[in-house]
Amino acid sequence: MSGNIVLGAGIAGLAAAWRARELGAAMTLYEAAQTAGGLLDSFEVEGWRFDNGVHLSFATEPEVRAVFDLTPYIEHDAVSLNWDRERWLRHPVQNNMFPLPAAEKTALIAGLVERPELEVRTYRDWLLYQYGEAIAERWPLEYTRKYWTVDAQDLGIDWIGNRMRRADIREVLFGAMSPEPTNTYYISKMRYPVRGGYRGFIEPLIEGADIRAGHRAVSVDWRQRVVRFSTGDEVSYDTMINTIPLPALVGMMTDVPADVRDAAATLFATRLDLISVGIARPDVSPSLWFYIYDPDILAARVYSPSWKAPANAPEGHSSLQFEIYSSPRAPQTATVEEMKQNCLDAMEKMGLARRDEVVLLHHKSLPYGNVVFDTGMEARRDLVVSWVRSCGIELAGRFGEWAYLWSNQSFMSGRRAAEAALGRGAGTA
Ligand SMILES: Cc1cc2nc3c(=O)[nH]c(=O)nc-3n(C[C@H](O)[C@H](O)[C@H](O)COP(=O)(O)OP(=O)(O)OC[C@H]3O[C@@H](n4cnc5c(N)ncnc54)[C@H](O)[C@@H]3O)c2cc1C
Repeated sequence: MSGNIVLGAGIAGLAAAWRARELGAAMTLYEAAQTAGGLLDSFEVEGWRFDNGVHLSFATEPEVRAVFDLTPYIEHDAVSLNWDRERWLRHPVQNNMFPLPAAEKTALIAGLVERPELEVRTYRDWLLYQYGEAIAERWPLEYTRKYWTVDAQDLGIDWIGNRMRRADIREVLFGAMSPEPTNTYYISKMRYPVRGGYRGFIEPLIEGADIRAGHRAVSVDWRQRVVRFSTGDEVSYDTMINTIPLPALVGMMTDVPADVRDAAATLFATRLDLISVGIARPDVSPSLWFYIYDPDILAARVYSPSWKAPANAPEGHSSLQFEIYSSPRAPQTATVEEMKQNCLDAMEKMGLARRDEVVLLHHKSLPYGNVVFDTGMEARRDLVVSWVRSCGIELAGRFGEWAYLWSNQSFMSGRRAAEAALGRGAGTA
């Protein structure tokens, strides 16, 4: 059998197949898991629904909205909080220091005023330059270790974009002197399906797609244009779009040059342990999601599925999901039971709920969370990307492109890949 194939049925692969249908072509998706959706799939445990980490949509692209808006949604204000060791602070934290003691605020603001003039090469430089040492040490440097699993001095700066709020002395001073909220978060409204979890937004893409679930690609002979699957099936292709993690793809390809193989072996991502908690009381969360700087707490971030949509929890109950990150650079040393207990300790310490109110406690781990932008990663990735493309394989999505893409960007990436694959036909290699 020959045709147009896609490896992976996350949003990038699904959007590619959707675009192909719009262009009058067919694409078959091969997916390792038993269900489509990838990171955007949601899961149900005993009547409670959870996503794979916090997922809210802030898509603006008309192409994405044309699909997502087919699903009824709830619109939320993008307001989050920060747990700063012993108190809650609004987000972004440096603009909301009002609750801190005066001496602490003075030291933090003095650090900002006296921030060093330096050449910005690493994320650490960027943080020191933006916020000064005192603010950087107290919040973002601590958070970086939790979320990225490496020190900020080992990260580059190209990924930052508009993800981090730059420091503005007027905003900082206002937020230190006044309890009034100044919502300067970079996105102001976020959308989430009324039912079905975040997956609801991609159901239209899944319906009508030709998906072969339970098919894990295990080898790719790009010269012969044949992919082999864990099922034993062999499939010939005319065009192929890959959305599975780039280093995994290279690991299964034939005739890989040594420099490409070496570069691919240096690419790494964070792994995500999700602890999902169901609580026999409504509204336990202080915000839709929040960040944790407290080093005693393993989780970096928490969101409330029942706040995102009441349908995610039984009536009168609420839910939380804790995100704990690790990576090959900082492997997880806690056991699942230790992670669960740490989250329950955190829940009590933050004053959200008591242990005896917990009626559901669930663990799940995801092998790929965020691509890590360690220093020089982009050059090594670009070498790999251009070689794979020269083999006639299009790349799409967060892990196919190996980039920091939100779901809407992954959608657009899949769409572009479909246009390129169909426009180019059988490729050039
Ligand atoms: C914790 C977290 C929170 C996020 N929050 C948001 C948010 O709030 N808003 C937002 O817009 N975006 C968010 N994102 C980003 C969003 O999840 C991604 O952009 C998007 O899901 C990536 O889709 P994808 O199709 O590129 O990859 P994936 O969803 O990973 O799809 C790849 C697919 O390939 C399959 N696969 C892997 N190996 C093989 C193989 N060998 N053979 C066949 N199939 C294989 C996988 O099972 C998977 O289904 C978040 C991401 C994370 C990790």
